[in-house]
Amino acid sequence: MSEVTMEAPPMPTEEALEIFKGMIFGKQSFERFSKNEREAISRAINLLEKQIPKDPVVVRDGWWLKMKCPACGRVIEYGIKLTKNYCRDCGQALKVGD
Ligand SMILES: [Zn+2]
Repeated sequence: MSEVTMEAPPMPTEEALEIFKGMIFGKQSFERFSKNEREAISRAINLLEKQIPKDPVVVRDGWWLKMKCPACGRVIEYGIKLTKNYCRDCGQALKVGD
C-alpha cells in the first residue's frame, strides 16, 4: 500500500510577511531580539514586500503617460501598457497589464 504524502503548499509571501511583522512589531520584540536581529528582520520585511506585485503609479506628462515605480518613484516606462514586471532600480515587483 502506498503512502499518501500531503505536501504543504508553499507559504504565500503575504503570510511570511505577517510572521516577520509579528516578530518585530510584537510587544516583546525589544526583549526577544537584539538590535542586529531586529535590523535583519526589518531588511527581510523590506525585501518580501518588494516581491508582492504592485500597480505602477500612472502620471500624465503632456501627451505621454508615465508609469512610475510605487516604491521608489522612478519612471519605469512610457505609454499605456506596462511590460516590465519589476523595477530595475529597487526591485519592486510590478503588476503587468494584460
Ligand atoms: Zn523602484
